[in-house]
Amino acid sequence: MDKPLHSALVWFRRDLRISDHAALFHALKAARRVWCAFVYDREILDPLPRADRRVEFIQASVDALDRDLAALGEHAGQPGVRLLLRHGPGATEIARLAVELGVQAVYANHDDDPQALQRDARVRGALADAGIALHTGKDHVIFERSEVLTAAGTPYTVFTPYKKAWLARLEPYFLRGYKVERHAAALAAPPEGLAAPSPSLADLGFGPTNLAQLPIPIGSAGARALLDDFMPRIDAYAEQRDFPAHKGPSYLSVHLRFGTVSIREVARRAAGSAGANVPGRGAATFLSELVWRDFYHQVLHHHPHVVSGAFKPGFDRLGFEKGRAADAAFEAWCLGATGYPLVDAAMAQINQTGYMHNRLRMVTASFLVKDLGIDWRRGETYFAEKLNDYDLAANNGGWQWAASTGCDAQPWFRIFNPVRQSRRFDPQGRFIRRYLPALAGLSDSAIHAPWEATPIEHAAAGFELGRDYPAPIVDHAEASRKTLDRYAAVRADGPGPTRGRRR
Ligand code: FAD
Repeated sequence: MDKPLHSALVWFRRDLRISDHAALFHALKAARRVWCAFVYDREILDPLPRADRRVEFIQASVDALDRDLAALGEHAGQPGVRLLLRHGPGATEIARLAVELGVQAVYANHDDDPQALQRDARVRGALADAGIALHTGKDHVIFERSEVLTAAGTPYTVFTPYKKAWLARLEPYFLRGYKVERHAAALAAPPEGLAAPSPSLADLGFGPTNLAQLPIPIGSAGARALLDDFMPRIDAYAEQRDFPAHKGPSYLSVHLRFGTVSIREVARRAAGSAGANVPGRGAATFLSELVWRDFYHQVLHHHPHVVSGAFKPGFDRLGFEKGRAADAAFEAWCLGATGYPLVDAAMAQINQTGYMHNRLRMVTASFLVKDLGIDWRRGETYFAEKLNDYDLAANNGGWQWAASTGCDAQPWFRIFNPVRQSRRFDPQGRFIRRYLPALAGLSDSAIHAPWEATPIEHAAAGFELGRDYPAPIVDHAEASRKTLDRYAAVRADGPGPTRGRRR
């Protein structure tokens, strides 16, 4: 088959795999020789702390990608294929490499984060100056941008009808994998002098974290292992997913974030499971979470103001707590020292592992905003620094949901009770005990609110409130009243119950 291009470059970004990779497939189909590159983008990396689990995850996954590409080339009769690695500003490095290689086009998958879009616009300009095209397309989500709109042609702002329309559009075509392997013979070994050895973590200016001690498998092989482990559990997902001590969710988020697994593969396997069309069944509920992922991506695309402000701008008038007391409360929240065990155990989980269970993300976010009265953006920033799976669209969506400022958010007058959440979702305190050993000796009923236990119970457990664990820094009932006043004063969501979901 005659190909339109003599050569092309594939630019990997948040898609660190070879299998079912849209840009790689299109480049291999269009060009006789294809090179692949990844840039350790200094504009993203330089501001990060010098030990960051995500950088370690990316570095190890990029190395795995390099090996996978070499094996793919070898198998297709093209020895010496390597990933071209650069460490510098993404925008300039990729344009320079494309010129050095003399390619006619660069292929990449969409990255719709506002900063990435700006970077891509700069790259497009620089490449155009050199007469090189930049082709980008969908890969990261099932439906992107304006692919799912209301009958009036407007973006959805309520999840349930969005999901209905999403499911109605979901034909097998949208889940079909890109058969990269079929065209792999177009992969080419890098020209002399252009391949550089893979930089180590230290070369990138970073030190090691505790990633190696965590059960987070790396790269595509790691993602595949997690998906294979999850599929036999998918039936139980709906019942198990809300209990942080249970192995209920898939733990795929970091892989979906960095594209070490294809969303089409995950959705295809979920959609192909028994019960995928039966509301409330495990596979249907899991698929629904993947729809939430697309939903928040399209919210960010159509409403980029959410990056800095409330989706419903009226909520920007909320008067959050400021000053020294608020700063101290925020710090206690970050450190997991609020005196509310489920909140503190959850914060220990994010601090120690970079992961936090979904139920706990909702509980801790709600606690920060509605118990401590602190601006949701401070919590959003903290999660952005800590989460391995940090994703602007999902994190912003989650925070604005919890703060009731968002698109189809929790109604403002609904406030999670952190003790009730604890009793309901960690009834035996197993999760709390895992992360707060100081509380391990308390009974299953006392562990959720140690300040309510009697001195006899404390003594029996060898536990002293204030010494072994802090007393609560806020009274939930009083905080709730303040929050209702705070929100009622702006009433940006209307005065009474509105559409919302209980979680
Ligand atoms: P599973 O339950 O196995 O879900 C499978 C996949 O579906 C996830 O990996 C994720 O890609 C997607 N998903 C699930 N729930 C959601 C959701 N509510 N919104 C969007 N996608 C979802 N998710 C992130 O990927 N990155 C974030 O930065 C992030 N920040 C959050 C912040 C807050 C305050 C809240 C309430 C939620 C946030 N979430 C975020 C959503 C959700 O908590 C995580 O996706 C989930 O806990 C990841 O674990 P898992 O892969 O085991 O999830």
